[in-house]
Amino acid sequence: METKLWNLRNDEPLGPQVKEAAALIAAGEVVSFPTETVYGLGANGLDGKACQKIFAAKGRPADNPLILHIAEMGEIERLTRGLSPMARKLMEAFWPGPMTLIVPKSDLIPDVVTAGLDTVAVRFPSHPVARELIRQAGCPIAAPSANKSGKPSPTNAQDVLQDMDGIIAGVIDGGSCDIGVESTIIDTTGKEPVILRPGGITREMITEVMGTARLDPGLVRADQTPKAPGMKYRHYAPQAPMLLVEGPEASLGVIRLAIMAEASEQRVGVIALEETLHHFPKGGNFVVHDGGKNLEELAENLFRELRLFDREKVDLIIGEGVRDQDLGLAIMNRMRKSAGHNIVWAENGLLVRKSGHVPECLQTIVMEP
Ligand code: AMP
Ligand code: MG
Repeated sequence: METKLWNLRNDEPLGPQVKEAAALIAAGEVVSFPTETVYGLGANGLDGKACQKIFAAKGRPADNPLILHIAEMGEIERLTRGLSPMARKLMEAFWPGPMTLIVPKSDLIPDVVTAGLDTVAVRFPSHPVARELIRQAGCPIAAPSANKSGKPSPTNAQDVLQDMDGIIAGVIDGGSCDIGVESTIIDTTGKEPVILRPGGITREMITEVMGTARLDPGLVRADQTPKAPGMKYRHYAPQAPMLLVEGPEASLGVIRLAIMAEASEQRVGVIALEETLHHFPKGGNFVVHDGGKNLEELAENLFRELRLFDREKVDLIIGEGVRDQDLGLAIMNRMRKSAGHNIVWAENGLLVRKSGHVPECLQTIVMEP
């Protein structure tokens, strides 16, 4: 299949520029489009056959349900059997934006969308291109991230094409995504809001509005199954093995480990905050990627930089972790998965293996717990 690419022009009205893409979606095809979080892979969310194509294009397991995207607040009403006061309060506070709500599903929704669950995930994105596309398609758009299953999510059209060229009907190029990590998923079917996936709307922001926000135990404990089926899969994985450094001395730890790995003739990829990179040695067989100045920039850059390492053919990636606070919670959820939970803790001048595997060339400076 030939994949069309629509380059959006800011100096022209949006409507006519997404017309062809919207018509393809209405006709049952799959089109990728930008949102404020990451690029989505969209199909008519009320057409089971069209949604099957999303699973095929991504190689997505059939038990991993899709999020339905709407263009107006009220469009959620016919997708659900009823909204709790909690859900309405969250909608008022955070929609449109990077928040997905789990609500009881209505009969309108095909089983393939919800993977047979009795609930459905709904999001009202703020991105003008996403909203115009949904509006013109005239249906809720089912859209997971536009990557092959298991890879980092794409945050620009080139990264989408890398995974999807020749496989889907088209890609709308609307530039880079602002937030860079996926939406926060909140289960609203219980007594209090439960975060199933941390994202652009932080736990702190939700707590401020709702008084409370629990984390799904499956996010915190390895022996609990996550309630969002997709969260159990290996995800966001670059080709090279990755080691994540956490703890109060993560910055120094990254530098020490990178120098040690490079000394054993490895091509070492590093992703760290700008501050850390100021202290990084010049020269050597390093591929250094700047994560940015703060959490917002790190979230925005993370997936793009991880995907670059694949093209640069590094042997090992060393990443700098941040604290599990604010946007850091979403970032660390993604980074730990990217690293396959290979984590080293840096504190008091020591490097200690926290979980997973430490590459052989680093085993002399990393202590066992
Ligand atoms: P993605 O579209 O790639 O951002 O992934 C969507 C995420 O939403 C996956 O982790 C799904 O498992 C999760 N999800 C979708 N629908 C539901 C649902 N009804 N209940 C719980 N999690 C859901
Ligand atoms: Mg995804």
